[in-house]
Amino acid sequence: MPDCGATYPLEEIRTACDRCGNLLDVAYDWDRLRVPASLSFFEQKWAIRSDPHCFSGVWRFHELLPFAPVEKCVTVGEGQTLLHDSPAVARYVGIRPGRLFLQYEGMNPSGSFKDNGMAAAFTHARMVGARRAACASTGNTSASLALYCSVTQLMKAVIFIGSGKISHGKLSQALDYGALTLQIEGDFDDAMARVKEVCKRLGIYLVNSVNPFRLEGQKTIMFRVLEALRWTVPNWIVCPGGNLGNSSAFGKAFYELHQLGLIPRMPRLAVINAAGANTLFELYERRGLRWNEGRGEMGIADRYYQEMDAARRRADTLASAIEINRPVNLTKCLRALDWMHGVVREVSDQEILNAKAQVGSGGLGCEPASAASVAGAKKLVAEGVIRPDEQVVCILTGHQLKDPTATVAYHTDDRAHFEKVLGSRNVREAPYANRAVHVPNDLAAIVEAIK
Ligand SMILES: *Cc1c(COP(=O)(O)O)cnc(C)c1O
Ligand SMILES: [Zn+2]
Repeated sequence: MPDCGATYPLEEIRTACDRCGNLLDVAYDWDRLRVPASLSFFEQKWAIRSDPHCFSGVWRFHELLPFAPVEKCVTVGEGQTLLHDSPAVARYVGIRPGRLFLQYEGMNPSGSFKDNGMAAAFTHARMVGARRAACASTGNTSASLALYCSVTQLMKAVIFIGSGKISHGKLSQALDYGALTLQIEGDFDDAMARVKEVCKRLGIYLVNSVNPFRLEGQKTIMFRVLEALRWTVPNWIVCPGGNLGNSSAFGKAFYELHQLGLIPRMPRLAVINAAGANTLFELYERRGLRWNEGRGEMGIADRYYQEMDAARRRADTLASAIEINRPVNLTKCLRALDWMHGVVREVSDQEILNAKAQVGSGGLGCEPASAASVAGAKKLVAEGVIRPDEQVVCILTGHQLKDPTATVAYHTDDRAHFEKVLGSRNVREAPYANRAVHVPNDLAAIVEAIK
């Protein structure tokens, strides 16, 4: 981290600094690298789609994350994603139609944005000769790692998940792709603590977002947003916050582009927590924790975690991808919030599911955690923080099919089923439910139901 200044060689497998204990950043000596004079440089790569590194939505931007020679970069075709202009969701959020965009990362090969980061971390793992890679996961990181292992056959995947805390869509991916899958008794934070110990003991490469190369890959989500907006900078980027890898990566992406003179200004950042897993909101908005050039009072966070443990409070939200107590990238996210003049909000599971139904009926659909971005944008418009004429990009982090349980429960007319799945999360109503129509097996009745 900049405040410390210690550096480590690229070939070393490590995630934290010995001197200050912080996570590492990938730093480039831009003066010695070939940086394009303008972002439109990247468009010429569209013409060479037969080259997998030009086809990849990550490696197409290789010049902006040049930690490995391009021919050594691993790709499975990630990053073919879409910035979708959704007037329907704009109206729901309170933004002028035509000004709200949904960056749909569910189109990635494993169905979530995690593939952007995995392409980069996997590349580094191969550089250092790793034969096994591991992660703790709420589901999507493990699905992504398992996919990269199965497609490339370069490594074996070892996956740690908390018991009962993973949606079947995601678990089925890890199993189908042949990963060694360990279900630990406990939640994500427990699994995270264990996977670090195990990787150290057995010399396994760790691909969680403590891995700085993950964030390099995730920068490209923002490059593609700019590309879709014809290289203009929107007013706001709104994303869900779990381990805060994405928000940290977005900050680094814009900061570097700005430093390189490739964009005139940075957008603002809004990170949205689920109310049941609101560590960042609590620390940033309520307790005033700030980056402060790396000299932030991190004791504020330590005290908060102590209180949380003393009260035995655990993250609890049906947006399982962001059900996290101790976000590993907290410090880097504070830095991103500082750079991008950011705000943090929390939204309830009820707000998340309502927003998700709107994304489904007005766009490409998403999993619950992704809809936090839309619910958060709506809240910020209502507060007057985001103005209705501003250009807003909400990141849809994962595919709609990742978690069908929540979706089906929301739309059901079976109240007992609704209560069983959603009631425990304080979801009481489904104003945007699209109920299946029950009809007898009778032609006249079916025709009547359609008319
Ligand atoms: C991982 C994940 C998140 C959280 O992202 P962070 O970078 O950990 O903050 C949000 N949504 C989905 C679908 C995810 O898979
Ligand atoms: Zn350090």
